[in-house]
Amino acid sequence: MTIWWRLHQLGLCSLIATLLLAPTALLAAHEQSPTAASSLTQACLGRVPLGLTFDDGPSPLYTPRILSILARHNAHATFFVVGGNALRFPSQLRAEIAAGDTIGNHTFDHPRLPHLSRSAQDKEVSATTAAIIAAVPGVQVTLFRPPYGLLDHAQRERLLASGLSVVLWNEDSVDWRDPSPERLSQQVEAAARPGGLLLMHDIHPVTVAALDGILSNLGKRGFCFVTVGELERYRVASGMVVQHQAKGLPLIDSAQ
Ligand SMILES: [Zn+2]
Repeated sequence: MTIWWRLHQLGLCSLIATLLLAPTALLAAHEQSPTAASSLTQACLGRVPLGLTFDDGPSPLYTPRILSILARHNAHATFFVVGGNALRFPSQLRAEIAAGDTIGNHTFDHPRLPHLSRSAQDKEVSATTAAIIAAVPGVQVTLFRPPYGLLDHAQRERLLASGLSVVLWNEDSVDWRDPSPERLSQQVEAAARPGGLLLMHDIHPVTVAALDGILSNLGKRGFCFVTVGELERYRVASGMVVQHQAKGLPLIDSAQ
């Protein structure tokens, strides 16, 4: 059964939002809006942002290599970590924060959340936030991404009420299918849109092998690479219009 069909069954197809704004319109908005420009880092001046996310880590093998590639390109990312890995490899979380990146919660065991009881769902989230804070004392955990994009309405309401934003994605690298680095680069570079949010993983060697080339090529096309928070600030400040494939939840869903 495909994820799409499962989402459909759950009435959650609309969870997957698509940004349809034309690149030229976004470039114009970027150039015309000093507020939008000031909401981005220096590396983004005169460029258009693409949000980078790496899920399922940290990995002692791959996360450090991804961090050094990001640094080479003045790029920032959000790492949606699994709590079990956060407990095992806390120094990787500290390295992510030291690099100026953001850490989000991606559950403790990476389950299909709608299959769990309410208390088990809540424990997946709270145990992961606790593991992140144990690794990086004082860090604010404000972002949550459900594994496979699967989330029932009641848990979503509880997450938002607890102050977590629910973050999905609209550009999937599908790096877990283990394509060749060349194929992965082609897929990502074809999918990249200004203001998009790209899903990758920091647990697969192919992602590490392809990332430097992807960032080089997208950088030549005028992209800069930002965290979820920076992407959302830019989107709000530039008045960027987000159109959904269907009525439903936005790409980055926060209680207002
Ligand atoms: Zn995941």
